[in-house]
Amino acid sequence: MKICQSCGICCTHTEMILSSDDVQRILDYFSKKSQNIDFFEFDGRFYRLKNIDDHCVFYIPNEKKCLIYPIRPMGCRFYPMIFDQSRNKCILDDECPHNRIFYSNPSRFKAICLSLRKWIFSHILNQTRS
Ligand code: SF4
Repeated sequence: MKICQSCGICCTHTEMILSSDDVQRILDYFSKKSQNIDFFEFDGRFYRLKNIDDHCVFYIPNEKKCLIYPIRPMGCRFYPMIFDQSRNKCILDDECPHNRIFYSNPSRFKAICLSLRKWIFSHILNQTRS
């Protein structure tokens, strides 16, 4: 069942955080194709996807597709669920116009939130530099 409406809003002006596993998986993918791709930057705290022409480097605007969908970053898989660190809770990002159709089942929301929290604490917050 496809829920995402492929509007591409989440891939525009992306600030998506990457874990080191995300970075390595994507590097390996392009290395197997003998391609080098400049896709991330370090903002002083986190690795993030780069934008080109106001959208993620991997977004193909005229096709409304992600070039690396099968190996996309974990944050893109959880989206529109994001973790609000200041409130220590999972929320649905208001920038996604269809966010309410994702995770409409409370049990599913809770289960995915648990996975998101585990990923954030084990793969993102433990790799930040102070
Ligand atoms: S990696 Fe794919 S899903 Fe994630 S922001 Fe980029 S184009 Fe969108």
